[in-house]
Amino acid sequence: MLHFIITNELQNLFYIMSAALLHLILAPLFIHKEKHLNLLFSLILGSFILLYWNFADIDPLIYSLQLVPVCLLFVTLGVGIAPSIMTWIIFNIGCMFVLNYYWEPALLSSTFLLMLGILVRNRVANTDLVVKLMYATGILIIYELLYAPLAPYVLAPFSLYTGFVLALAFISLWIMISLLFYINKYEIQRRHITHLEKNRMLAELSATVSHEIRNPLTSTRGFLQLLARSDITPLDRRRYVDHALSGVDQAITLLTDFLNYAKPSVDMKEQLDIKEELEHTIRFITPYALDFQITIDILHECETPLYILGESQKLRQCLLNLIKNAIESMPNGGKLSLRTCKHPSAVQISITDTGVGMSSKQLNSLGKPFYTTKQHGTGLGLVVVMSLIKKMNGKISFTSSLNCGTHCSIIFQQY
Ligand code: ADP
Ligand code: MG
Repeated sequence: MLHFIITNELQNLFYIMSAALLHLILAPLFIHKEKHLNLLFSLILGSFILLYWNFADIDPLIYSLQLVPVCLLFVTLGVGIAPSIMTWIIFNIGCMFVLNYYWEPALLSSTFLLMLGILVRNRVANTDLVVKLMYATGILIIYELLYAPLAPYVLAPFSLYTGFVLALAFISLWIMISLLFYINKYEIQRRHITHLEKNRMLAELSATVSHEIRNPLTSTRGFLQLLARSDITPLDRRRYVDHALSGVDQAITLLTDFLNYAKPSVDMKEQLDIKEELEHTIRFITPYALDFQITIDILHECETPLYILGESQKLRQCLLNLIKNAIESMPNGGKLSLRTCKHPSAVQISITDTGVGMSSKQLNSLGKPFYTTKQHGTGLGLVVVMSLIKKMNGKISFTSSLNCGTHCSIIFQQY
């Protein structure tokens, strides 16, 4: 007999725990939709109960003394009011139509349990485990005291079997409430860690942005002070103005990168020819490349235009960032090869340099905010590029080897 009860007990626990586990797995999908999350739990529990009705040998005693109150208490105290009402409905429908055995006492006592649970759920929400267990045990005792006298088969004749079922109802309740307690505790810790991580990111962000902006502004201030002196030559004046302007430019670049990073939006309305966009970007960047003594080699493998859907200004910004990175990786000159080509339903832009290249560790760091190896770099350029290209449904990838150069490929769906 003990064997039978324990088997049943384990089965019950299995159903509730599976529901709780599945819920935990699916919960991250509904992280911003608390209401959906609660409904999800009811749906999962409901499906498990349907399985139970279909596949398990239901013993009315175990169903009414254990499964109904334990599940209902678990949901009421731990999940939410709406799911608890749904659970209450599901169990009572089961009792009326599937089990069809003393459904009135089950309805009455489960209604009482539901009301008591809803009444105390806020009070026990933030208490420690012992208090939770005490409240849950108290409510379960009230449930059993209401149910048993109204369903005579429980008490007459009162057997060892009934005693075991009752005892195990309490044990499974304690197990479930403890499990829920530790799951919630873990969730609270996780939220706390996320919060700390956000604060850390914010501190890092503010430190980087203010540091990066203060540096060029301080140097600009210095040059403006020099300009105010009366004993400077026209040549010096020209130099100081240039330095001051480049300081301001640097601050502007950082702010632009930063704003794009914070809000990279793309308007996907325009039909763009990637060949034309690339040509336009090259015209813009050529003087910069010449400063670095870099030769630019461009090859369009296809005669016809290669159309994609996106936003011209954003695509140019991406290309500019990537080409600028390629140029900056060749401080002693080199060759920049740009290529466009067509695939069956996609188009590709390749940017290849013969610069310093990257180790596999550096390659893995690409696209991480603030990752930069440059003295005046922001480490935001590629973050913005990657998110803009993703928004245009494109795919970007890099291959590189140290001292040999880097190859960057961007593939877009053809329009
Ligand atoms: P920044 O250019 O401000 O440093 P990016 O996000 O554009 O920021 O680039 C991040 C880092 O990635 C660069 O500092 C550089 O180390 C590396 N990188 C990017 N492109 C290349 C490239 N073509 N060759 C070598 N290193 C590159
Ligand atoms: Mg860059």
